[in-house]
This record gives sequence, C-alpha cells and structure tokens, in this order.
Amino acid sequence: MRYIFLGPPGAGKGTQANILASRWQIPHISTGDILRTAIATETPLGVQARTYVSAGELVPNDLIMALIRERFGEADTKAGWILDGFPRTIAQAQALDRLLSILWHAYPSVIYFKVDDGVLTERMLTRGRADDTAETIQRRLEVYHQDTIPLVDFYQKRRCLIEVDGGCSSKEVTQALQESILQAQSSPLEKAS
Ligand code: AMP
Repeated sequence: MRYIFLGPPGAGKGTQANILASRWQIPHISTGDILRTAIATETPLGVQARTYVSAGELVPNDLIMALIRERFGEADTKAGWILDGFPRTIAQAQALDRLLSILWHAYPSVIYFKVDDGVLTERMLTRGRADDTAETIQRRLEVYHQDTIPLVDFYQKRRCLIEVDGGCSSKEVTQALQESILQAQSSPLEKAS
C-alpha cells in the first residue's frame, strides 16, 4: 500500500490522504505539514524552510530529501504510506526512485487529482492557512504548473498513474478514489490509461 497523491495546491490531497490513511492504517506523510510544524517549533529545518514556504516557493531539494529519508527511517512506514505534496519536481521523483530501490519499498501508485485553477483559488482562499494569501496562492499555482505538472508524464511513462477528478465534493472524491484504486488493482495493465 504505497501511494503518491499528486495534484495542485488546494486539490484536496490532504483531506483525502487523511481519510484513506486512517481507513487503511498507514501513515499519511505530508511534507507541507512536516514543514509547518518545523516552522512553528523553530527547529533548524523550520528556520531554513520558513522564507520559502511563506513566499510559496519550493524548499530546496536537499532539505526535503533529508526530511523524507528521516521519515522513511521510522518503523510505521514498513507497511505502506501515502505521500502528500512530495515529490513536487522531477529531481525529487528521481531521488525518491533511488531511495525506494535502496529501501526495497515496492513502487507506488500515483493518484493524480485533476482540478481547474479557478476552483483551487476559491478553495484555498476559504481555507485560511498562513500561506494562503492571494499572492502566495498565485505563486504556488505557477510553481505547480512549471515544476510539478511534468510529473504526470514522468509517472504515466512508468504506468502507475491513476487520474481522479478532484473538482467535486470531498465525499464524491473519496468514492471515486476508492473505485479507481480497486479498478487499477484488478486490471493492472490498464493503469496507464
Ligand atoms: P503543501 O502543504 O503541500 O501545499 O506545502 C506547503 C509549502 O511547503 C509549499 O508551498 C512549499 O513551500 C513547501 N513544500 C511542501 N512540500 C514540498 C516539496 N516536496 N518540495 C519543496 N517544497 C515543499
């Protein structure tokens, strides 16, 4: 049970990851949540990451990979995980591939949440998080289109991408997500379609 939740900021990845991780009893690993906690508690990671997060920029890869390596070192990751907000760049995806082969973790399925930018901006503005100002939202969407969208192609080539419409209600998305995962498990050769 290894999943990467891929999609734009505000797509509902965190909400869905929370629901499914508790249902499946596997950890929900959100790099954004880990960074926000580190910033709030002023750890060395938090101090280094703060300016990037508040500007809506990506935190440098070496910091993110150190964080992921540390998290994967914990025992609860043996049975599986849901990664939320990581990887966000091709370089991170390649680094994750290397890490997974070293750790002998099975290759993950990638759930791609597709949502229009208009819906995302509206959702984020009502969420009220510290980095959810109109300006930062705009920047995060730009960064997403520039650096993260290429991962759709990256994982499609690896035939592990499952696309889900993230534009409907949370309940409907959970339903669609579970159906898509079940379908992909029963017909692995159709996963890439
Ligand atoms: P999120 O909660 O996933 O929207 O992440 C909030 C912020 O944390 C992002 O805007 C980035 O500044 C930073 N961040 C989270 N995950 C990553 C990542 N994988 N790579 C670089 N920066 C990240």
